[in-house]
Amino acid sequence: MGAPIWWVVVLLVLGLSATVSVAESHRQKLGLCSKKSNDDDDDDESPYNTDAGPVPDKLNVHLVPHTHDDVGWLKTVDQYFVGSNNTIQVAAVQYIIGSVIDSLLKNPDRKFIYVEQAFFQRWWRLQNKQMQKKVKKLVEKGQLEFINGGWCMHDEATTHYLDMIDQTTLGHRYIKDQFDVAPRIGWQIDPFGHSAVQGYLLGAEVGFDALFFARADYQDKAKRQADRTMEFIWRGSKTLGASAQLFGGLLGHHYDPPPEFRYDIHSEAPLFQDDPLLYDYNVEERVELFVKLVQEQAAQFRTNHTMWTMGEDFAYEYAETWFKQLDKLIHYVNLDGRVNVFYSSPSMYLDSKHAANETWPVKEDDFFPYADCPHCYWTGYFTSRPALKRYVRRLSGFLQAARQLEFLVGKNETGPNTDSLEEAMAIVQHHDGVSGTERQHVANDYAKRLSIGAAEAAEVISTALNRLISGNVPKPDTKKKEKVTAKKLLKDPKYVIQMPSSEEVSNESLKFELCFLLNVSYCPPTEVDLSGGKTLVVVAYNPLGWPRDEMIRIPVTNSALTVTDSDGQAIPSQLVPLSKIAKGLREKYVMAHEGVHAGKGDLSYLVFQASVPPVGYRTFHIRASVPGSPQSAEHASVEQNNERAGHVKLKSSGAHIQISLQTGRIEKMKDVKTGVIADVEQSYCWYNASVGNAFESQGQASGAYIFRPNSSECFPLGTPDDTVQLTVIRGPLVEEVHQTFSPWISQVVRLYSNADHAEIEFTVGPIPVEDGLGKEVVTKVSTNLESNGEFYTDSNGRDFLKRVRNYRSDWTLNVTEEVAGNYYPLNLGIYLADNETEFSVLVDRALGGGSIRDGELEIMLHRRMLRDDGRGVGDVLNEVVCTGDPETCEGLTVQGTYYLHASSKTEAPKWRRSYGQELLFPVQLAFTVLESSEANVGPALNFSLLASDYSLPPNVALLTLQELEEGDVLFRLAHLYEIGEDDILSAVANVDTQALFGKKRIDKIEEVTLTANQKKSDVNPLQWNVEGNISSTVPLRGHHHKKHEVLVELGPMEIRTFIVSFE
Ligand SMILES: [Zn+2]
Repeated sequence: MGAPIWWVVVLLVLGLSATVSVAESHRQKLGLCSKKSNDDDDDDESPYNTDAGPVPDKLNVHLVPHTHDDVGWLKTVDQYFVGSNNTIQVAAVQYIIGSVIDSLLKNPDRKFIYVEQAFFQRWWRLQNKQMQKKVKKLVEKGQLEFINGGWCMHDEATTHYLDMIDQTTLGHRYIKDQFDVAPRIGWQIDPFGHSAVQGYLLGAEVGFDALFFARADYQDKAKRQADRTMEFIWRGSKTLGASAQLFGGLLGHHYDPPPEFRYDIHSEAPLFQDDPLLYDYNVEERVELFVKLVQEQAAQFRTNHTMWTMGEDFAYEYAETWFKQLDKLIHYVNLDGRVNVFYSSPSMYLDSKHAANETWPVKEDDFFPYADCPHCYWTGYFTSRPALKRYVRRLSGFLQAARQLEFLVGKNETGPNTDSLEEAMAIVQHHDGVSGTERQHVANDYAKRLSIGAAEAAEVISTALNRLISGNVPKPDTKKKEKVTAKKLLKDPKYVIQMPSSEEVSNESLKFELCFLLNVSYCPPTEVDLSGGKTLVVVAYNPLGWPRDEMIRIPVTNSALTVTDSDGQAIPSQLVPLSKIAKGLREKYVMAHEGVHAGKGDLSYLVFQASVPPVGYRTFHIRASVPGSPQSAEHASVEQNNERAGHVKLKSSGAHIQISLQTGRIEKMKDVKTGVIADVEQSYCWYNASVGNAFESQGQASGAYIFRPNSSECFPLGTPDDTVQLTVIRGPLVEEVHQTFSPWISQVVRLYSNADHAEIEFTVGPIPVEDGLGKEVVTKVSTNLESNGEFYTDSNGRDFLKRVRNYRSDWTLNVTEEVAGNYYPLNLGIYLADNETEFSVLVDRALGGGSIRDGELEIMLHRRMLRDDGRGVGDVLNEVVCTGDPETCEGLTVQGTYYLHASSKTEAPKWRRSYGQELLFPVQLAFTVLESSEANVGPALNFSLLASDYSLPPNVALLTLQELEEGDVLFRLAHLYEIGEDDILSAVANVDTQALFGKKRIDKIEEVTLTANQKKSDVNPLQWNVEGNISSTVPLRGHHHKKHEVLVELGPMEIRTFIVSFE
């Protein structure tokens, strides 16, 4: 740990007794020594004594040199790496890493931590063998330590836990592969609020011993500083409790040092001038100030260890400017002797905290929302850039499905493969990525990367389906004419064909196309005119571990069509006309994306029900038919409603929805299964984004990060008496009500015949700002539930956390923002409960929401601003779309869907969990059109990976199925229920992994940590003493997994990760 201070004293004494030159005499007076650097090629020597380490009887100051490198923000990730576009921001990560390595080689006492693998890997792959060897040595010696270690430092509000796991795994596996180490510290220093899932899942379950961060609400932080609770034991999961806890640390001074000790090249801080032969010698002065500031900070923390993070955004581009000053600081402060300061790392700091045997307070739940001053709630970014947020969520499920199909046919290492989508998804999880707080050109760069990755993954899917479907495998007996449902598919093996072996797979070329613009009703292969005997083949792939019945919806041009399933039987189908809004969006957005006219053909949606086996697919054939024939798709009826009294009712087997003709709004929902009826009124309104004014306390504007309405009033769309215009569409498979609320807000209320919930497809935009008012558009759902200020929101799509309006469990809240201060991030959804009923809303992307009045939920769907909010991005969040010359540009229109469900307290959790999983892992569709002569597409029309009588239990989801090197598979299972959430399903569940992999025989299955970089059995979490009588029930965890064992147990909320190899 370095030599004690007496070494310096001895050196001084010896030095002074010798005969020396003037210069040497000065060196000796200053206690300067001569010490060999550890770089053999470099004879540079540090004259300063920098090898101190912790001592027991002094205040120990851990200096942690670091750089915070955003994976895209004001510049794109590649611009940051290369150092281009420096007129925006001087930042060049390639020089940061290179220069830090040089500085570390100069003095073996120096340490550095590095975080973002997106940058480190860009640098590493350009280094020669000798340099790589040197860096490996630095890692081995602990001079360079990887912490956090994901591809980026992900956001914690707008990310889904699945994407957080993926991006962290990507970084961790590179580090493991190159350096054979596993990061042990979480380092989320910049994200704007911290989630429970980050603490327990992406922290403890990753194998991290601690998680450090810099941002907490200003009121929370003040209290923590006063009562020395800046550091705590964080138990983020109420289900896993102390079994998934870690040491949580709020940094003392943001994530940089006080300004007087910042040493980047353009820093204005006074440097150590320690040459008495020059003017302005200032060593004592610098030491004095340092000791004072250190003691002030230490007073807010427990134990005699305190940490100073010596770095800032993109710092260390010329690392010597820092390290030279830090060498001097350590040298002179230790000569002074009042405090003990040394090069350290968060790991060393944590070990010192642990060795102190202190008792720590317990922190539960999360750190949302975050405010840095009374009118500055960072709750706007929960919704900022809602289209990018949707794109990310859409591709999340797509990536998982593509990986499954890649595994089914074998990964092509040289491509096309899913690697580029994996990396693009990892980059966009950054806290200025999916969060929406980046500049416009950076948002475009993220979208471009995603789109390139998705195109390559689409090729993977197309190739895999071609190989599977054209495979020479036996056809099931299809003589019996009966309706095949998902349940039947599961129970009756004859419906499910097992995976063809590689010999059985032929390479006939069927070219499957995917449609990424189905959201704007555009899909060229399905729009082909099928008259003349053509067949449209639709493949529906189900990435879930359960069978499902899914309503498929595709745009078609023929007005008489028949749909047959993989058994050759006609199945019910329905044609639904496109709304006027949908037609307009299609034309505009196809032009914006593809640069072509979408075509104005007489388009409608064809709807049919697909029953698809688990981790498998089913094919459907669509052909032109004789108009009016009994097997033809039924045309929906269209009623224009101009009545002003009574109501419209939509009915399915699971739900009834009543819409008032007086107001045009939903007024009641009934759940058929439980008989629960809820009064519901759903509407839209907008908050006027504050532009700030001259008064300091009111000067905060709403912007990309911050939501600050300039009053708590949400302005309704149109006057309250205005009737919303309605069109009612009816048919056997789906009923819809099309509603127009204003020229720029419309929606479709949709009820599928097999659904127990309502789908609300909204279209918002272009938001008008010609009136000079920025607008934040919200949907409100008012119910008759007596919710008493309480509501529930998810943590990264995983656990649900109870929220109480105008209340925080950790401190007495001074309410300054009635609306913005009660907003929380949503990734899965939000719900209200009273004694009998729960009313839930699930979302299709990350959004912000809350409950501002009892019985009411609101969700912000879109925002358009006219001001920057002064938190660094320096850009106005004003998204536009252009279809050619700049004059065509107009505000971005956002379309999406949310889902309403009213039910009993016992049934509601099941819906949220299982339907939530269907939303995350949607059916993926692929299409091909056959000329009449080749109408027989191939024999394997129905396929499942799973053994024919097997499906995952309803409380367990298949999360990851990803082929690694040499055919091994990364495999994750997740229990979907929290403790006490469901009487039956919140119990230990069992999975037969051999049945899950069907015909593929498992050779070895080994449990690893969440990010698959360590054996699970090798992880030994640190133990901590906690304050008070905190009851920690022993969580139900699945029993320890032994190698080769194919049965896996999962306790509530457990995620277990395995590496599987096959025979
Ligand atoms: Zn940052």
